[in-house]
Amino acid sequence: MSLVSSEIYDAVIIGAGPAGSLAALHLARSGKNVLLLDKAHFPRSKVCGCCINQSARRVLQRSGLDAILVQAGAVPLKQLQLFDGALNATVEVPGGHALSRDYFDTALIDAAVAAGAQFLPGVAAKVCQSNAGGSRVQIAQHGLPAFAEGLMQVVEGKITIVADGLNGHALDQLPQFASSVAANARFGCGTTIAPSSSINSYYQPGRIYMACHQGGYVGLVILENHAIDIACALDRSFVRQKESLPSAVAEVLAQCRLPLPVPAEQFAGSHWHGTDALTRKRSKISGQRIFVIGDACGYPEPLTGEGIAWALESAEAVVPLALAAIDCWGDDLAVRWQQVHGRLVSKRQLKSRLIAYSLRNPLSRWGVLQAISIFPILAQAVAASLTHQPKQSVVSK
Ligand SMILES: Cc1cc2nc3c(=O)[nH]c(=O)nc-3n(C[C@H](O)[C@H](O)[C@H](O)COP(=O)(O)OP(=O)(O)OC[C@H]3O[C@@H](n4cnc5c(N)ncnc54)[C@H](O)[C@@H]3O)c2cc1C
Repeated sequence: MSLVSSEIYDAVIIGAGPAGSLAALHLARSGKNVLLLDKAHFPRSKVCGCCINQSARRVLQRSGLDAILVQAGAVPLKQLQLFDGALNATVEVPGGHALSRDYFDTALIDAAVAAGAQFLPGVAAKVCQSNAGGSRVQIAQHGLPAFAEGLMQVVEGKITIVADGLNGHALDQLPQFASSVAANARFGCGTTIAPSSSINSYYQPGRIYMACHQGGYVGLVILENHAIDIACALDRSFVRQKESLPSAVAEVLAQCRLPLPVPAEQFAGSHWHGTDALTRKRSKISGQRIFVIGDACGYPEPLTGEGIAWALESAEAVVPLALAAIDCWGDDLAVRWQQVHGRLVSKRQLKSRLIAYSLRNPLSRWGVLQAISIFPILAQAVAASLTHQPKQSVVSK
């Protein structure tokens, strides 16, 4: 089997979500020889609320990719409506857009390929060795018996960028990169319901509907193609109690006085996807000739809808270090990535985690919704601080 040539790539990038594709695009634009790998074939389904916030949009603008939102007809977002039982509160969220991940991720890959990156879909990758001399990645066609002898190929890169997301296992052979999962972590799940006349007209474009409940939360948004995206973070125990994912989600909506987006049978029969436990942290996000970016670094919870921004910002910020590493490896580059990433997202992830935890408690949930409905300016200030661009987000060469 030969999936790729035996040349040594400047960069092998594992994972073609927003983080991997944007890193591939920038490195390719700098004239580097980039191999971008993903186990999926695109467009692929992805559990996501599909809301691209202002910070993410700023990265797209800086990368000359803003046209993606325009060409796709991404839906401008105006309001986030929070529901908890009979209570609800509205927060203005200017500058965000709803866009399906099918469209967005494929468009980013296309841009990376147009910049000169080589993209190989349907290929699962694992880093098998990385040291000061080079980095080696095992690849195999996804779906074949896991990395069986003879079905596998090794590609070499001057560096490897790991952007394999929340559920990735590309670093499993290097135990120093292990992840730890929070004890009370929720898991993600969701579905996209294709446009049809059966979608309840209660749900309007330009609004994010967020139903909060003791067992988790459910976000709904109308996409550019008039489909409705449903993305949730739920407690496993709550889903077990309700016996199925659709019935747990339906329960959260019913408790918040929200209608099912489509008739019950269609809702239950939709194709639901799940993720691993959400709240996790990786012990190390860099090593000799390895940089980890995006969700693969760790993830808090999706409540504040910032994951795409963090993924894009980390891709943008790793590029100067990656270029330096391709020219000449120095162990200080690994240390610097750990520091840069910390400054870029750690504080914001902590804020996001605190907000998510505060909404777990019914009393503080009630307090937050009351406060927002009386002083909406408070919520606006929090939302603005989450999408604020930190001064040192972009590292100069
Ligand atoms: C319920 C939920 C709702 C969310 N809502 C929002 C939202 O509204 N707005 C927002 O900004 N963020 C949201 N997020 C977060 C967002 O989806 C992620 O933060 C974002 O996708 C991270 O991008 P990434 O490139 O790091 O990883 P991903 O987008 O996960 O991409 C990783 C890629 O790596 C590939 N891969 C994995 N392992 C391998 C391997 N071994 N070999 C090859 N390829 C591999 C996968 O196929 C995948 O394509 C949400 C998340 C959840 C769970």
